[in-house]
Amino acid sequence: MLIRDLSRVTQRHGYLIRVGRDGVAPAPDGGIIQPIADWPSGAVALGEWLGAPIAVFGENGSADWPTARQWLHTLPRDQFPLLSSALQVLKWLRDHRFCGRCGKRMKRLEHEFAMHCTGCQHRSYPRISPCIITLITRGREMLLARSPRFGPGMYSTLAGFIEAGESAEEAVRREVHEEVGVEVGRVSYFQSQSWPFPHSFMLGYYAEYAGGDITIDGVEIEDAQWFTPEDLPGLPPKFSISHALIDNFLRSVATGR
Ligand SMILES: [Zn+2]
Repeated sequence: MLIRDLSRVTQRHGYLIRVGRDGVAPAPDGGIIQPIADWPSGAVALGEWLGAPIAVFGENGSADWPTARQWLHTLPRDQFPLLSSALQVLKWLRDHRFCGRCGKRMKRLEHEFAMHCTGCQHRSYPRISPCIITLITRGREMLLARSPRFGPGMYSTLAGFIEAGESAEEAVRREVHEEVGVEVGRVSYFQSQSWPFPHSFMLGYYAEYAGGDITIDGVEIEDAQWFTPEDLPGLPPKFSISHALIDNFLRSVATGR
């Protein structure tokens, strides 16, 4: 796993992930981790990976490189946090070159993920945007919805950003009400996932249906339905927390727990 301790990185030499404008470079072994070598100037250390330093390098890249989303389908699961960190750290550095308070150029600190303004001492850290993602259940049924952006026949769980000042549980109730118009009772935490498009942090919840009929706005959500385990639509990809929420619920229905 990625050891996120920058003080252990004492040399500009190690593994590298090369991120282009549209994709991530394939390594000789078919993955995204380039073999150990001297890092190019501008490479940003992420920590330690399998006993050696690892960095990310942003460049123009090539149109042939698979996109980060394409990589998600093929990468070993333990490399997902690495890709997610690489993409988010790079995006943060690109978006925080100048101080948001006084406008001076920011300087990156060596041993933590922080940009520092020498003018006013303001610091900025990698941006992480918390979102809730929730599966509404009613007995053995689950409520799944589809956005017009989805591939044909695919349905998924509901998701949305947590607003400033709001708890995750409040966000679950609000998003559910806004998107499908139903009320939910008990809300229980499942697990979380970093989602680097561009910097979401997904908090997964189950929400038990409490009342109301499905009402959709037809814009963000074009359809929402109750599904039984015997009659499922196309589901989101396996590596997503949405899939894990659904899969875990199906298991609990099958085992009666
Ligand atoms: Zn400043």
